Amino acid sequence: MSVLPITNSQMTLLYYDPRFLEHDTGRGHPERSLRLKQIAARLESSGIMGKCERPAWQAISRARLELVHEPGHVQRVAALAEHGGGYLDPDTVVCPASIDVAQLAASAACDAVDRVLANEAKTALCLVRPPGHHALRERAMGFCLFNNIAIAAQVAVAEHKLDRVLIVDWDVHHGNGTQDVFYADGRVGFFSAHRWPFYPGTGAADETGIGEGQGATRNLPITSGVSREVFLERFRHELEDFAARIRPQLVLISAGFDSHRSDPLGSFLLETEDFATLTQNVLDVAAVHAEGRVVSILEGGYNPNLLAECVETHLRGLL
Ligand SMILES: [Zn+2]
Repeated sequence: MSVLPITNSQMTLLYYDPRFLEHDTGRGHPERSLRLKQIAARLESSGIMGKCERPAWQAISRARLELVHEPGHVQRVAALAEHGGGYLDPDTVVCPASIDVAQLAASAACDAVDRVLANEAKTALCLVRPPGHHALRERAMGFCLFNNIAIAAQVAVAEHKLDRVLIVDWDVHHGNGTQDVFYADGRVGFFSAHRWPFYPGTGAADETGIGEGQGATRNLPITSGVSREVFLERFRHELEDFAARIRPQLVLISAGFDSHRSDPLGSFLLETEDFATLTQNVLDVAAVHAEGRVVSILEGGYNPNLLAECVETHLRGLL
């Protein structure tokens, strides 16, 4: 009996490092290290972590950070960390370790793009913190110091010379930072489904991009009262339509799980199993357009036990 060989490219890369726990946001902050601790514990005890490839990765270069961020922003985060930490906005905390941890998070996303584009794997999941999708070029915002997914997308277009990348953001909050970075850039399509009206206030349906980016942003603001079924159907339909327009060579996910109905911050409308559906929707468009290449990066999700359950569901889909 012959068995088909399992090649590395069928593996899922899993990025996790205990150093991510060192970004200390203080007592009572929802974006706390327990989130990742619970995820790691669950993935280990269920055995699913053992099914993934666990790459080691290098620290990010300043040049890569500055593909998205202004040097002054990077310097401000570094200086605040060096001076013992503090707040960059009412929600966003820096501790002495945060500059290194935030760079480690951004570099995980970049390494995943490097390896997936080198055909080492088809899919990757970066379990990182702090999250990134609210971070703007010039400042931190909403728990986010550096915009991990925007930097990874820039690496794909600026260094790997891809013409078209698609970012799918299903965090309950609009990914305003990511949208902002690529608003005038037709190479990176941004698709976001989010609760509306809600923090941070951006993400209206008529925000569609400008200049060369016209039409390369698509927002699905979802008001309360919409049913799960309607949301999921709209998500699938709009994503397929948008992906057909972008024709991405690589798909990135801003995987926020605060869109679960029991999330303490999001309290939106999704059930855990719905993240399997969303994952499959993204895999489907990636299979059609991008040879199945998907890099997923953790964003929000603030009930640690529930978050771990949702991440496991998502990872099982990627595997
Ligand atoms: Zn969020």
